[in-house]
Amino acid sequence: MAELGGTAHLSGYAIEDLRSRLLAWYDSNRRDLPWRRTQDPYAIWVSEIMLQQTRVAAVVDRYEVFLRNFPSVEALAFAAEDDVLTLWSGLGYYRRARMLHKAAKAVARDHLGVMPRTAAGLRELPGIGAYTSAAIASIAYGEMTAVVDGNVERVAQRLAGWGSESREGQSKLSRATETLANMLLDLKRPGDFNQSMMELGATVCLPTSPKCLTCPIELHCRTRGEHPTPKRAKMRSQDAAYALVIRSRGEDREVLLDQRPEDQTVMPGMWELPALRETEVAASDLNMVVRHAIMEVNYSVRIRNVAEEEAGELVIPSERRRWTRIHDVDAMPLTGLARKVLFRAKLPELSPSITVLK
Ligand code: SF4
Repeated sequence: MAELGGTAHLSGYAIEDLRSRLLAWYDSNRRDLPWRRTQDPYAIWVSEIMLQQTRVAAVVDRYEVFLRNFPSVEALAFAAEDDVLTLWSGLGYYRRARMLHKAAKAVARDHLGVMPRTAAGLRELPGIGAYTSAAIASIAYGEMTAVVDGNVERVAQRLAGWGSESREGQSKLSRATETLANMLLDLKRPGDFNQSMMELGATVCLPTSPKCLTCPIELHCRTRGEHPTPKRAKMRSQDAAYALVIRSRGEDREVLLDQRPEDQTVMPGMWELPALRETEVAASDLNMVVRHAIMEVNYSVRIRNVAEEEAGELVIPSERRRWTRIHDVDAMPLTGLARKVLFRAKLPELSPSITVLK
């Protein structure tokens, strides 16, 4: 492992060359993503928050629908929280949506609806940390500040040949990586350079098998694939079971839903199917089995058909339970699992993702 510090293995000329190779590669190879077609700091902010811990493919549709409903920071600020959560449905990590909403209110209240123009100013808003503020400020306003996410860290550390096993070593490594990322930053196109580093990490300098033969900056890289690969977090498996309770009322059909308590750390306030007391379900009662991953757990979820009169006995009691017309379910902040199940159950009014709110 090379010693931490500066850009010792890169001369001024080499840094210039690295910048121009990487930017040229980015210009011709970047993925055409909707948030790359805008300079609007609000739209960039929404995309950056959605992309945290969520795959690009899952974000693309949600991003466009979200912006159609809330096209400006003020539109978001004045929206009802339930509507914001509904449009976040399926992206997971709902705390991000609540913080985004809270920060939009702060912009409307304290900044006359205009987003702060610097990374330091943006960091004052709730839920905006070093990474997000640097991304918005460099992409929307051209501020000279490096964005250091997991992809950029990996590229920079492989370029420099750095690594560390110990925890103390890790914090020194993080500081050195940030310094290096700032030194490499292109002076004329800092936003594009940041995005090119992230794009390289996402598509070429991959965690387990970097594609060094097609890497535009291979010439300047110290490791060229000879770098320890990170260990993947191990997924756990767990069983869960929920009740699908549907009844008819006149012309309508209704489904029984529970609201998760507000003090839950995962998906507070979201609506879900009532949980069954027993995770074992007899084949004759089984409606479907759904696989669903949340954080590091792979759930195998059994969905049982339950008649209205059996519900009291079979499901775990809940303080916030209500019958909801199936017609109205699509506009509710459902958990991703509940949405998946209701869609697979072919309830006619439900869309696989979310629709535009009326
Ligand atoms: S040469 Fe390989 S390890 Fe080095 S930056 Fe490029 S892809 Fe990553």
